[in-house]
Amino acid sequence: MRRLAAGNWKMNGVSASLDEIRALLALHSDPACEMLICPPATLLAPLAVLAAGTALSVGGQDCHQNASGAHTGDISAAMLKDAGAGSVILGHSERRADHGETDQLVAQKALAAREAGLVAVICLGETEGERDAGRTLDVIGAQLAGSVPDGASGANTVIAYEPVWAIGTGRVPTLDQIAEVHDFISRSLNARFGTAAGAIRLLYGGSVKPSNAAEIFEVPHVHGALVGGASLKASDFGTIVAALSAA
Ligand code: PEP
Repeated sequence: MRRLAAGNWKMNGVSASLDEIRALLALHSDPACEMLICPPATLLAPLAVLAAGTALSVGGQDCHQNASGAHTGDISAAMLKDAGAGSVILGHSERRADHGETDQLVAQKALAAREAGLVAVICLGETEGERDAGRTLDVIGAQLAGSVPDGASGANTVIAYEPVWAIGTGRVPTLDQIAEVHDFISRSLNARFGTAAGAIRLLYGGSVKPSNAAEIFEVPHVHGALVGGASLKASDFGTIVAALSAA
């Protein structure tokens, strides 16, 4: 399984930020480790030009569930593909919170992504209140069942476990907590998708930094990371990619 270090730039980055990509490409070229950067849509096409022929791939941060139509301001999966994306983040907790995205909508978007030939990076995660109430696995199980459409395989799906309370906060679950959830996701996927589930990569996301990446990558069923803030700087993201390469 090819490990994956994915960077989510969120609403950050202009043309000058592509210098960070040039620096990242100078740092890393391990073909066993895929790097993915999901920039704002405005940077997809120029980033795809820079990434061509390298270990870096390019992804969107969201897509509409429909292929085209009267949806001002939205972007379709085919448009992302046309701009050079190979994947798209779906169901990020910021989209679930800011835009009211439900599991059902995320599943529709994942099908639209698959139809366009994109890999769907589907995000799941409990809130702090849900964890405190002992409901983490129930929440993850429900999100998994509702957000991941039938027919998921390693070729069309990546799952990112991102506890909402760990995103952008500097707080990280214990390694045992990460292990428990990744093991649960792995078993749930196996039960639903059988052998096809074996190739679905499971990422951990939430305050991954150069200082904690190596230990997180040692956790069973962690095949990489989805990284927000630390993906904006080539030196930070490069250190995380190096830790993944070494894991
Ligand atoms: C994210 O937004 O997906 C994320 C994991 O952010 P951060 O790494 O900044 O916590």
